[in-house]
Amino acid sequence: MSLMKLFKNAHLLCPADLGQQDVLIAGKQIIAIGQDLLIGNHNLPVEIIDASDCYLTPGFVDSLVHFIGGGGEGGFASRTPEMQLTDATLAGVTTAIGVLGTDSTTRTLTNLLAKAHALETEGISTYCHTGSYQIPCRTLMGSVTDDLILIDKFIGVGEIAISDHRSSQPTLTELRKVAAQARVGGMLAGKAGIVSVHVGAGASLLDPLHQAVNGTELSLKQFYPTHINRNQDVFAAGIRFAKAGGVIDFTTSTTAYDLKHGEVAAAQALAMALEQQIPVANLTMSSDGNASLPLFNVQGELLGLEVGKVSSLYQSARSAMLDFKISPSLAIAAITSSPAAVLGLSHKGTLAVGKDADLVLIHKDDLHIRSVFAKGRTMVKQQKAVVFGTFETKDD
Ligand code: ZN
Repeated sequence: MSLMKLFKNAHLLCPADLGQQDVLIAGKQIIAIGQDLLIGNHNLPVEIIDASDCYLTPGFVDSLVHFIGGGGEGGFASRTPEMQLTDATLAGVTTAIGVLGTDSTTRTLTNLLAKAHALETEGISTYCHTGSYQIPCRTLMGSVTDDLILIDKFIGVGEIAISDHRSSQPTLTELRKVAAQARVGGMLAGKAGIVSVHVGAGASLLDPLHQAVNGTELSLKQFYPTHINRNQDVFAAGIRFAKAGGVIDFTTSTTAYDLKHGEVAAAQALAMALEQQIPVANLTMSSDGNASLPLFNVQGELLGLEVGKVSSLYQSARSAMLDFKISPSLAIAAITSSPAAVLGLSHKGTLAVGKDADLVLIHKDDLHIRSVFAKGRTMVKQQKAVVFGTFETKDD
C-alpha cells in the first residue's frame, strides 16, 4: 500500500470546478494540486492513478446518520440495524455525523460514541451530536455545553424534534436554552456547536426556530433544520428560513410511499432552492442513513417501516445532475463543502493543499462512483470495497 498517490488528469470539483489537474496525496493529506505534477525519478513509493475519465471530488460529508440504528416506533422489533463501514464507503461517504433520534432510552450516547470510534478505526471520519429528539437533552457529562467542550467527537446537539408528534413538544424557552448551551459549548471548544433540528410535518413548520431567535442574540445559523423536503409546506418554510440566512438540509432517504404523499425528492428540492437564488452554501443534503422511515397515516398511526440508506446521498446528488441539470460543482457542494462548513469541519469538504485526503473518483460518462479514499487510504476500488468493517463478510 503506497502512502503517496498521484491522481493524473482528473477533472477537479473542489467542489469549485478547476478543470483538469493532478492531485498528490501523502499519508492522510493533500499535499499538491496543479497541472503536470511530476514526481521525478526518485524511486518514491507513489501509486499513479490515471483519472483522465473521472471527476475527482472531496469525500462526501453525511451530516445525519443513525449509525447505531434508530427507529423503534413500531415496537422493539422495528428498531433498525447499525450501519456498516462499507455502507458508507461504497456510497462515497468518508465523514459521517452520528445521531440518536426518537429513542434515547435503548439507544445511548455511549453506544453512539463507541460506534463513532469503531468507524474511525475502520477508516472513515466520524463525529456525533449529543442529545436526541427530546428536551431536556440526554447528555454524557451533565449538560450540552459540557459534552461539546469535553468530548472530542461531539460537535453539536440533536436532532432536536420540532413540529412533530414524536417531539417532546419543546417550549421556546427550552429551544433557546439548548441553542445557548450549544453555542457556548461550541465557542469554548472551537466547534460548530450547531443545533440539528428534526422538522416534522406539524403545522407550526419552522416557526419555533424563528420565534426562538426573535428577541434574543441567537442567530438562525445556530439551527440546522433537516427533512426540509418532507412536503411542500415544509419546503416553502425552508425557503423562507434560508432566505433569512439559515442553512437547510434535504433528506435523501425516502420511500415510494412518501414521494407519492407529497415529499419532494431531495434532488428536486435542491434544484428548486437553487432556482430561488438560495446560495449552495445554505443548502445541504444528508442521508438519514439507518433511520427508520415510518409510514404514518394522517391519524399518526404506523402503517409500516423502511430503513434509510447512506447510499441515497450520492444517488440524490447524481439525480440532481442527471435529472435536474444541476452543475456537478453545485450538486457536489451540497454533500461536501456546504455540510462541512455548517459543521465547522474546516479540514473536510474541499480539495485543497493541507486538507484531509478524502477523495471520490466518479466516472464522467455515467456518474457512477469508481473509487473512494478516506484519510489517504483506498477504501473502494473499481466500485468494489477493498476495506471492510471488522464483522463484515467480504463476499457480499
Ligand atoms: Zn429526523
